[in-house]
Amino acid sequence: MKQRIGFLGLGQMGRPMVRNLLRAGFSVTGFDPQPHAAESLQGEAGFSVATSAVAAAEGVDVLILMLPSSPVIDDLLWKQGLASGMKAGQLILDMSSSDPVCSRDNAARLATLGIHFVDAPVSGGVKRAVDGSLAIMMGGEAVDIDTVRPALQAMGKTLVHVGSAGAGHAVKALNNYVSASGLLAVCEALVAAQKFGIDPHLVNQVFNASTGKNNTTEHKVESFMLSEAFNSGFALGLMRKDLQTAQSFIERMGSPDTFAQVCLSTWTAAEQSLAPGADHTAMYQYVRQQS
Ligand code: NAD
Repeated sequence: MKQRIGFLGLGQMGRPMVRNLLRAGFSVTGFDPQPHAAESLQGEAGFSVATSAVAAAEGVDVLILMLPSSPVIDDLLWKQGLASGMKAGQLILDMSSSDPVCSRDNAARLATLGIHFVDAPVSGGVKRAVDGSLAIMMGGEAVDIDTVRPALQAMGKTLVHVGSAGAGHAVKALNNYVSASGLLAVCEALVAAQKFGIDPHLVNQVFNASTGKNNTTEHKVESFMLSEAFNSGFALGLMRKDLQTAQSFIERMGSPDTFAQVCLSTWTAAEQSLAPGADHTAMYQYVRQQS
Protein backbone atom coordinates (compact mmCIF):
# COMPACT_ATOMS: atom_id res chain seq x y z
CA MET A 1 0.00 0.00 0.00
CA LYS A 2 1.40 3.41 -0.99
CA GLN A 3 1.43 6.05 1.74
CA ARG A 4 -1.32 8.65 1.84
CA ILE A 5 0.19 12.11 1.55
CA GLY A 6 -1.03 15.53 2.62
CA PHE A 7 0.61 18.47 0.80
CA LEU A 8 0.58 22.09 1.98
CA GLY A 9 1.74 24.78 -0.47
CA LEU A 10 0.69 24.29 -4.10
CA GLY A 11 2.88 27.03 -5.54
CA GLN A 12 5.53 27.08 -8.29
CA MET A 13 7.34 24.10 -6.77
CA GLY A 14 4.50 22.34 -4.95
CA ARG A 15 2.35 21.70 -8.03
CA PRO A 16 4.95 19.82 -10.12
CA MET A 17 6.11 17.91 -7.02
CA VAL A 18 2.52 16.77 -6.37
CA ARG A 19 2.23 15.71 -10.03
CA ASN A 20 5.29 13.47 -9.67
CA LEU A 21 3.91 11.91 -6.47
CA LEU A 22 0.63 11.15 -8.28
CA ARG A 23 2.53 9.65 -11.23
CA ALA A 24 4.36 7.36 -8.78
CA GLY A 25 1.01 6.11 -7.44
CA PHE A 26 0.69 8.07 -4.18
CA SER A 27 -2.65 9.58 -3.24
CA VAL A 28 -2.32 13.27 -2.36
CA THR A 29 -4.62 15.65 -0.49
CA GLY A 30 -3.50 19.23 -1.12
CA PHE A 31 -4.22 22.58 0.45
CA ASP A 32 -3.27 26.15 -0.45
CA PRO A 33 -5.05 29.33 0.70
CA GLN A 34 -4.79 30.76 -2.84
CA PRO A 35 -8.11 29.73 -4.40
CA HIS A 36 -6.61 29.00 -7.86
CA ALA A 37 -3.47 27.16 -6.72
CA ALA A 38 -5.02 23.66 -6.91
CA GLU A 39 -6.91 24.29 -10.17
CA SER A 40 -4.42 22.67 -12.54
CA LEU A 41 -4.26 19.54 -10.34
CA GLN A 42 -8.02 19.02 -10.14
CA GLY A 43 -9.08 15.92 -12.01
CA GLU A 44 -5.67 14.20 -11.77
CA ALA A 45 -6.10 10.59 -10.55
CA GLY A 46 -5.37 10.27 -6.83
CA PHE A 47 -5.61 14.01 -6.08
CA SER A 48 -8.11 15.66 -3.75
CA VAL A 49 -8.35 19.16 -2.27
CA ALA A 50 -8.74 19.88 1.44
CA THR A 51 -10.52 22.91 2.83
CA SER A 52 -7.79 23.73 5.37
CA ALA A 53 -4.25 22.78 6.37
CA VAL A 54 -5.57 20.86 9.39
CA ALA A 55 -8.00 18.93 7.14
CA ALA A 56 -5.19 18.06 4.69
CA ALA A 57 -3.31 16.38 7.55
CA GLU A 58 -6.24 14.20 8.62
CA GLY A 59 -5.61 10.48 8.13
CA VAL A 60 -2.43 10.88 6.05
CA ASP A 61 0.84 9.04 6.76
CA VAL A 62 3.09 11.89 5.66
CA LEU A 63 2.35 15.63 5.57
CA ILE A 64 4.62 17.45 3.12
CA LEU A 65 5.22 21.20 3.56
CA MET A 66 6.32 23.29 0.54
CA LEU A 67 5.71 26.68 2.13
CA PRO A 68 7.34 30.10 1.93
CA SER A 69 9.20 30.24 5.26
CA SER A 70 9.62 29.16 8.90
CA PRO A 71 7.32 31.90 10.31
CA VAL A 72 4.49 30.54 8.09
CA ILE A 73 5.22 26.99 9.28
CA ASP A 74 5.45 27.97 12.96
CA ASP A 75 2.16 29.82 12.70
CA LEU A 76 0.45 26.80 11.13
CA LEU A 77 1.91 24.30 13.59
CA TRP A 78 1.54 26.12 16.87
CA LYS A 79 -1.11 28.84 16.34
CA GLN A 80 -3.46 27.38 13.71
CA GLY A 81 -3.71 24.00 15.49
CA LEU A 82 -1.92 21.86 12.90
CA ALA A 83 0.37 20.07 15.40
CA SER A 84 -2.33 19.53 18.02
CA GLY A 85 -4.68 18.18 15.33
CA MET A 86 -2.20 15.53 14.19
CA LYS A 87 -1.86 12.01 15.62
CA ALA A 88 1.17 10.27 17.10
CA GLY A 89 2.92 8.24 14.40
CA GLN A 90 2.30 10.74 11.59
CA LEU A 91 5.34 12.33 9.94
CA ILE A 92 5.92 15.92 8.82
CA LEU A 93 8.27 16.23 5.84
CA ASP A 94 9.33 19.87 5.49
CA MET A 95 10.62 20.38 1.94
CA SER A 96 10.44 24.19 2.14
CA SER A 97 13.63 26.23 2.53
CA SER A 98 13.19 26.82 6.26
CA ASP A 99 15.39 28.07 9.07
CA PRO A 100 17.55 25.21 10.46
CA VAL A 101 17.30 26.35 14.09
CA CYS A 102 13.48 26.65 13.90
CA SER A 103 13.34 23.21 12.29
CA ARG A 104 15.48 21.62 15.00
CA ASP A 105 13.21 23.18 17.67
CA ASN A 106 10.07 22.06 15.84
CA ALA A 107 11.41 18.50 15.51
CA ALA A 108 11.98 18.34 19.29
CA ARG A 109 8.55 19.81 20.10
CA LEU A 110 6.76 17.51 17.64
CA ALA A 111 8.60 14.50 19.10
CA THR A 112 6.91 15.16 22.46
CA LEU A 113 3.57 14.65 20.61
CA GLY A 114 4.85 11.47 18.94
CA ILE A 115 4.99 13.22 15.55
CA HIS A 116 8.07 12.46 13.44
CA PHE A 117 9.92 15.19 11.51
CA VAL A 118 12.26 15.14 8.53
CA ASP A 119 13.59 18.23 6.76
CA ALA A 120 14.23 17.64 3.06
CA PRO A 121 14.65 20.95 1.19
CA VAL A 122 15.32 20.85 -2.51
CA SER A 123 17.54 22.43 -5.12
CA GLY A 124 17.12 22.58 -8.88
CA GLY A 125 14.24 25.01 -9.38
CA VAL A 126 10.95 24.60 -11.17
CA LYS A 127 12.51 22.84 -14.18
CA ARG A 128 13.88 19.98 -12.08
CA ALA A 129 10.72 19.89 -9.95
CA VAL A 130 8.83 19.23 -13.19
CA ASP A 131 11.11 16.44 -14.41
CA GLY A 132 11.49 14.89 -10.94
CA SER A 133 15.25 15.36 -10.76
CA LEU A 134 15.59 17.65 -7.74
CA ALA A 135 18.60 17.46 -5.43
CA ILE A 136 17.27 16.74 -1.93
CA MET A 137 19.25 17.17 1.30
CA MET A 138 17.74 15.39 4.27
CA GLY A 139 17.97 15.92 8.03
CA GLY A 140 16.46 13.60 10.64
CA GLU A 141 16.50 10.08 12.05
CA ALA A 142 17.58 7.35 9.61
CA VAL A 143 14.41 5.35 10.30
CA ASP A 144 12.19 8.34 9.42
CA ILE A 145 14.20 9.03 6.30
CA ASP A 146 13.63 5.43 5.20
CA THR A 147 9.88 6.01 5.66
CA VAL A 148 9.84 8.97 3.27
CA ARG A 149 12.49 7.75 0.82
CA PRO A 150 10.00 6.35 -1.76
CA ALA A 151 8.10 9.67 -1.86
CA LEU A 152 11.36 11.63 -2.13
CA GLN A 153 12.54 9.36 -4.94
CA ALA A 154 9.38 10.27 -6.87
CA MET A 155 10.40 13.96 -6.73
CA GLY A 156 14.17 13.95 -6.76
CA LYS A 157 17.23 12.26 -8.17
CA THR A 158 20.06 12.95 -5.72
CA LEU A 159 19.12 12.25 -2.11
CA VAL A 160 21.74 12.96 0.57
CA HIS A 161 21.23 12.41 4.30
CA VAL A 162 23.30 15.25 5.76
CA GLY A 163 22.62 14.94 9.52
CA SER A 164 20.05 15.31 12.27
CA ALA A 165 16.85 17.42 12.12
CA GLY A 166 17.58 20.90 10.72
CA ALA A 167 20.80 19.83 8.95
CA GLY A 168 19.06 19.65 5.57
CA HIS A 169 17.79 23.19 6.02
CA ALA A 170 21.26 24.40 7.02
CA VAL A 171 22.84 22.90 3.90
CA LYS A 172 20.07 24.31 1.70
CA ALA A 173 20.56 27.87 3.01
CA LEU A 174 24.33 27.60 2.61
CA ASN A 175 23.91 26.27 -0.94
CA ASN A 176 21.74 29.24 -1.86
CA TYR A 177 24.25 31.63 -0.31
CA VAL A 178 26.94 30.23 -2.59
CA SER A 179 24.52 30.32 -5.55
CA ALA A 180 23.29 33.89 -4.84
CA SER A 181 26.82 35.24 -4.45
CA GLY A 182 27.79 33.61 -7.76
CA LEU A 183 24.79 35.16 -9.48
CA LEU A 184 25.55 38.62 -8.08
CA ALA A 185 29.19 38.39 -9.19
CA VAL A 186 28.09 37.45 -12.72
CA CYS A 187 25.68 40.43 -12.86
CA GLU A 188 28.36 42.89 -11.79
CA ALA A 189 30.87 41.42 -14.25
CA LEU A 190 28.46 41.45 -17.22
CA VAL A 191 27.29 45.02 -16.62
CA ALA A 192 30.86 46.34 -16.33
CA ALA A 193 31.97 44.46 -19.47
CA GLN A 194 29.03 45.88 -21.38
CA LYS A 195 29.97 49.42 -20.32
CA PHE A 196 33.43 48.77 -21.77
CA GLY A 197 31.71 47.85 -25.06
CA ILE A 198 31.97 44.06 -24.85
CA ASP A 199 29.01 41.93 -25.93
CA PRO A 200 27.70 40.22 -22.73
CA HIS A 201 26.80 37.07 -24.72
CA LEU A 202 30.47 36.72 -25.63
CA VAL A 203 31.53 37.38 -22.04
CA ASN A 204 29.27 34.58 -20.83
CA GLN A 205 30.51 32.28 -23.58
CA VAL A 206 34.06 32.84 -22.32
CA PHE A 207 33.02 32.33 -18.67
CA ASN A 208 31.44 29.01 -19.61
CA ALA A 209 34.70 27.87 -21.18
CA SER A 210 36.78 29.22 -18.29
CA THR A 211 37.11 29.12 -14.52
CA GLY A 212 34.35 31.73 -14.03
CA LYS A 213 31.69 29.17 -15.01
CA ASN A 214 28.93 28.63 -12.46
CA ASN A 215 25.25 27.66 -12.32
CA THR A 216 24.21 31.20 -13.32
CA THR A 217 26.49 31.36 -16.38
CA GLU A 218 25.40 27.89 -17.46
CA HIS A 219 21.66 28.02 -16.86
CA LYS A 220 20.44 31.57 -16.20
CA VAL A 221 22.35 34.24 -18.14
CA GLU A 222 21.04 33.43 -21.62
CA SER A 223 17.59 32.04 -20.72
CA PHE A 224 16.47 34.53 -18.10
CA MET A 225 18.84 37.51 -17.85
CA LEU A 226 20.14 38.61 -21.28
CA SER A 227 16.79 37.54 -22.79
CA GLU A 228 15.13 39.95 -20.30
CA ALA A 229 12.59 37.20 -19.54
CA PHE A 230 13.30 37.21 -15.79
CA ASN A 231 10.95 34.24 -15.31
CA SER A 232 12.94 31.36 -13.80
CA GLY A 233 10.09 30.73 -11.31
CA PHE A 234 12.15 31.47 -8.17
CA ALA A 235 11.25 34.78 -6.53
CA LEU A 236 13.95 37.25 -5.50
CA GLY A 237 12.25 37.61 -2.12
CA LEU A 238 12.68 33.86 -1.47
CA MET A 239 16.37 34.06 -2.39
CA ARG A 240 16.77 37.01 0.01
CA LYS A 241 15.09 34.92 2.73
CA ASP A 242 17.54 32.05 2.08
CA LEU A 243 20.48 34.45 2.29
CA GLN A 244 19.16 35.86 5.56
CA THR A 245 18.91 32.31 6.91
CA ALA A 246 22.45 31.50 5.77
CA GLN A 247 23.99 34.71 7.12
CA SER A 248 22.37 34.35 10.54
CA PHE A 249 23.32 30.65 10.63
CA ILE A 250 26.98 31.45 9.85
CA GLU A 251 26.92 34.22 12.48
CA ARG A 252 25.38 31.91 15.12
CA MET A 253 28.12 29.36 14.38
CA GLY A 254 30.69 32.07 15.19
CA SER A 255 32.20 31.78 11.70
CA PRO A 256 33.33 34.67 9.48
CA ASP A 257 30.37 36.14 7.58
CA THR A 258 31.81 39.30 6.01
CA PHE A 259 30.99 38.28 2.44
CA ALA A 260 27.56 36.88 3.42
CA GLN A 261 26.65 40.24 5.00
CA VAL A 262 27.56 42.22 1.86
CA CYS A 263 25.72 39.74 -0.34
CA LEU A 264 22.61 39.88 1.86
CA SER A 265 22.54 43.67 1.94
CA THR A 266 22.71 43.86 -1.89
CA TRP A 267 19.90 41.31 -2.33
CA THR A 268 17.82 43.17 0.28
CA ALA A 269 18.32 46.47 -1.56
CA ALA A 270 17.35 44.80 -4.86
CA GLU A 271 14.17 43.42 -3.31
CA GLN A 272 13.24 46.88 -2.04
CA SER A 273 13.92 48.50 -5.41
CA LEU A 274 12.38 45.98 -7.86
CA ALA A 275 8.65 45.32 -8.34
CA PRO A 276 7.01 43.07 -5.73
CA GLY A 277 7.24 39.40 -6.74
CA ALA A 278 10.25 40.00 -9.04
CA ASP A 279 12.15 36.90 -10.13
CA HIS A 280 15.61 36.38 -8.61
CA THR A 281 17.21 36.66 -12.05
CA ALA A 282 16.01 40.31 -12.12
CA MET A 283 19.09 40.99 -9.96
CA TYR A 284 20.71 41.66 -13.37
CA GLN A 285 18.17 44.44 -13.98
CA TYR A 286 18.90 45.91 -10.54
CA VAL A 287 22.68 45.91 -11.03
CA ARG A 288 22.23 47.54 -14.46
CA GLN A 289 20.02 50.24 -12.91
CA GLN A 290 22.67 50.93 -10.27
CA SER A 291 25.49 51.26 -12.74
P1 NAD B 1 5.40 29.94 -4.07
O1 NAD B 1 5.22 31.27 -3.45
O2 NAD B 1 5.16 29.77 -5.54
O3 NAD B 1 4.47 28.85 -3.32
C1 NAD B 1 4.26 28.84 -1.95
C2 NAD B 1 2.79 28.49 -1.75
O4 NAD B 1 2.52 28.33 -0.36
C3 NAD B 1 1.84 29.59 -2.26
O5 NAD B 1 0.95 29.05 -3.23
C4 NAD B 1 1.11 30.03 -1.00
O6 NAD B 1 -0.24 30.40 -1.23
C5 NAD B 1 1.21 28.77 -0.16
N1 NAD B 1 0.94 28.99 1.26
C6 NAD B 1 1.25 30.07 2.01
N2 NAD B 1 0.79 29.90 3.27
C7 NAD B 1 0.17 28.68 3.29
C8 NAD B 1 -0.51 27.94 4.29
N3 NAD B 1 -0.66 28.44 5.52
N4 NAD B 1 -1.00 26.70 3.98
C9 NAD B 1 -0.85 26.21 2.73
N5 NAD B 1 -0.22 26.87 1.73
C10 NAD B 1 0.27 28.09 2.02
O7 NAD B 1 6.86 29.47 -3.67
P2 NAD B 1 7.75 28.31 -4.34
O8 NAD B 1 8.64 28.94 -5.34
O9 NAD B 1 6.88 27.15 -4.68
O10 NAD B 1 8.66 27.93 -3.07
C11 NAD B 1 8.18 27.13 -1.99
C12 NAD B 1 9.38 26.83 -1.09
O11 NAD B 1 10.39 26.15 -1.86
C13 NAD B 1 10.05 28.08 -0.51
O12 NAD B 1 10.49 27.80 0.79
C14 NAD B 1 11.22 28.30 -1.46
O13 NAD B 1 12.26 29.04 -0.83
C15 NAD B 1 11.59 26.89 -1.81
N6 NAD B 1 12.27 26.69 -3.09
C16 NAD B 1 11.83 27.30 -4.24
C17 NAD B 1 12.49 27.06 -5.45
C18 NAD B 1 12.05 27.70 -6.75
O14 NAD B 1 12.80 27.62 -7.75
N7 NAD B 1 10.86 28.31 -6.84
C19 NAD B 1 13.59 26.20 -5.49
C20 NAD B 1 13.99 25.56 -4.31
C21 NAD B 1 13.32 25.81 -3.13
